[in-house]
Amino acid sequence: MTKEYDRELNTNLETDLNDVCEECKKEDKSVTQNLFLTGFKICESCRTSKTVFPF
Ligand SMILES: [Zn+2]
Repeated sequence: MTKEYDRELNTNLETDLNDVCEECKKEDKSVTQNLFLTGFKICESCRTSKTVFPF
């Protein structure tokens, strides 16, 4: 039961962090997308203003 709880807690934490932009701390669906695409945890508008894409 303890293990089960631990796992659930971890999952919740990750889900919590997943969609929050590190720049503006806003929650946005695009954060997860950009994390996959760019490796940065940022939302679409921050990505555009930062232009982190090297290409
Ligand atoms: Zn942002």
